[in-house]
Amino acid sequence: MPHDISAAVLPDYDRPFEVRTVQLDDPRPNEVLVKLVATGVCGTDLGVQAGHTPFPLPGVLGHEGAGVVEAVGAGVSTVKPGDKVLLSFTSCGVCRNCKLGHPAFCQYFLTLNLIGGRRADGSYTLHEGGEPVNGHFFGQSSFATHALADERGVTRVSDDADLAALAPLGCGIQTGAGTVLNILKPAPGTTIAVFGAGAVGLAAVMAARLTSVERIVVVDIVQSRLDLAATLGATHPINSRDLDLTQVLLDLTDGWGIDYAVDATGNVPVIHSAILALAPLGELALVGAPPVGHTVDLDVNFMLSGRRVIGVTEGDSTPQLLIPALIELIAQGRFPLDKLITPFDFSNINDAMSALKDGSALKPVLHFA
Ligand code: NAD
Ligand code: ZN
Repeated sequence: MPHDISAAVLPDYDRPFEVRTVQLDDPRPNEVLVKLVATGVCGTDLGVQAGHTPFPLPGVLGHEGAGVVEAVGAGVSTVKPGDKVLLSFTSCGVCRNCKLGHPAFCQYFLTLNLIGGRRADGSYTLHEGGEPVNGHFFGQSSFATHALADERGVTRVSDDADLAALAPLGCGIQTGAGTVLNILKPAPGTTIAVFGAGAVGLAAVMAARLTSVERIVVVDIVQSRLDLAATLGATHPINSRDLDLTQVLLDLTDGWGIDYAVDATGNVPVIHSAILALAPLGELALVGAPPVGHTVDLDVNFMLSGRRVIGVTEGDSTPQLLIPALIELIAQGRFPLDKLITPFDFSNINDAMSALKDGSALKPVLHFA
């Protein structure tokens, strides 16, 4: 029997969230019913609200859930009621890329996590007064007191884990960290540049600091974020407002260029500047998401010197592998995620979204009573 929960419904694009009572379905065999303790807010939630990232509305967003398992479907074997869990993206598990261990590049990633708004079989997880509400956002829709999560996106954590402190690992943090640790794997003595000092970019900075790169350049236009980046290990914070960004990066490297780059702005002119600042054999990971349909020019002859541009989803991570590794690094004091977090009460979700948008909060985390 579906039961009443409280959820932040986004009624339409460019509108505030409305906390309303909706009905959540019972768990299917592969699903886990989770009572949320906290949920992080990510730039992708902002992107959907602005209409830049495709997700049908009205719907329930939220994709960095953390909570306690209340019930499991008959086929679930990795968690049980009472377990503490972090929620991440879902994947089909049977396509070629899932089998190769790259679930973030699942053939059905977009349908299962974003544009579908419902389960793979077409059924809705959420209703309001008999009408369907789009859900299953990143296999969870965790801007709600309860979520139905696909087991493939669920990671069990220890009973003493501080869920509110770890919630952002489910998307933004594993994305930034995984892009550096799984994709770029920077060589010793090199230069990495991170464009965008939001949560994704700063997670990339913290991960870069765990490697043997020589220089960590961080580019943003919000000075407070650059100041924080410096405390997290950025050696060269650059406020790019009114600068010729490519020239500054070339000057910094004596004309050689940057060896590795992560774009976490989704800003097309920034991405273009980053490409032009790549050294021969340099590699740019595209992580930030511009509005659908945006393109960037490539000078083909310039690219022939071994330069590479690669698009990355969720840091190419397998959540059940990268999330526990990051939790251990946090426990050892080597990945200070707490410096990024600002807590908000769930009822103040619109304040949290505004704070992320205006740059005053880096990683809002919503707390459920
Ligand atoms: P955010 O909005 O907090 O961070 C973006 C940062 O870019 C901000 O600090 C902003 O000041 C900076 N910025 C914007 N325009 C700029 C410009 N012209 N020059 C310099 N800096 C500029 O968001 P976030 O949560 O860190 O997410 C970053 C991006 O990554 C978003 O586009 C989000 O949708 C995307 N994302 C992608 C994935 C993925 O799997 N590919 C996962 C999570 C988030
Ligand atoms: Zn996200």
